Amino acid sequence: MSKALVCGAGGFIGSHLVKRLKREGYWVRGVDIKHTEFAPSAADEFLILDLREKPNCEAALNVDFDEVYQLAADMGGMGFIHSAECEIMRNSALINVHMTDTAASRGIKRYFFSSSVCVYRDMKHGEPEMPESGAYPALPDNEYGWEKLYAERMAMAYGRRSGMVVRIARFQNCYGPEGTWRGGREKAPAAISRKVAEVEDGGTIEIWGDGSAVRSYTYVDDMVDGIYRLMHSDLQGAANIGCPQYVTVNELVEAVARMAGKKINVRHVPGPVGVQSRNFSNDRIYSIGWRSRFCLDDGIALTYPWVEEQVKKAKAAV
Ligand code: NAD
Repeated sequence: MSKALVCGAGGFIGSHLVKRLKREGYWVRGVDIKHTEFAPSAADEFLILDLREKPNCEAALNVDFDEVYQLAADMGGMGFIHSAECEIMRNSALINVHMTDTAASRGIKRYFFSSSVCVYRDMKHGEPEMPESGAYPALPDNEYGWEKLYAERMAMAYGRRSGMVVRIARFQNCYGPEGTWRGGREKAPAAISRKVAEVEDGGTIEIWGDGSAVRSYTYVDDMVDGIYRLMHSDLQGAANIGCPQYVTVNELVEAVARMAGKKINVRHVPGPVGVQSRNFSNDRIYSIGWRSRFCLDDGIALTYPWVEEQVKKAKAAV
């Protein structure tokens, strides 16, 4: 039985990845600084460890793992990314410095690192698709992107020296059930679902910026499938993983309102919007057979009811 370590297993994508690895027949150890929030972890063993500390990385890796998936990060949506620059640069860098070094010195054979399309510069509306090489010369829009770029390079350097096979995915925005939906770290699909669930039919929600920023949103099952395929492929260097459907924030609101069956008015307010536009090539991940199976409406149809249920539970609890 293959053994896998998932770092960040208490988080959104990590907890879904653990479920997938279990379905594939792995023995899984999950590690996180906190437990899963919405359902018990599917991992065979779950350790609470602060991976910023080197001895804790050693404790996480005290079994001979076939594969290590590094998803732990101090992470959140645009509001968090802009308000917690120092925490992101310190905490996520410490996790990656120690995990990469420990994995390489333990002789780990395959190491996955979860990077982000935040490593790219801002793009203009209508720009042609950007391939992975477009990350250089580097000009990420935020410090979160700079930390990811540094961690990518460090993982590759350790891979070159130790022979550890390193696989790197640059995720587009990921959404789905059991993701953070309130508290300041939530991302746009969860935040908009919450706001729509909280108002009556015909009500008004606030949206940061003018709603014209373009993004793609990838349903979590597709993302996990991309991680799994990439890890078991021969694809060297970073690979973008994202749904090829690009929408404006206003269109995202419309998709959620359609799903909720509500007429929603939008009040645009100042706030951290992030980059104006995105358009990334998926050719590399397509070359190993990955395709996204969930369009935005399909993914929102699975995500909105879950967020609505959380909103109802939270209301009932007060
Ligand atoms: P998440 O915040 O739900 O999961 C990250 C997990 O890391 C959390 O459970 C957190 O407790 C854990 N963690 C933080 N500090 C830690 C520490 N010191 N020690 C141990 N664990 C610690 O985020 P997510 O959405 O599941 O993202 C997973 C990975 O994917 C992250 O690296 C993130 O940067 C990357 N990513 C996510 C998205 C997205 O849209 N969700 C997009 C691009 C990249």
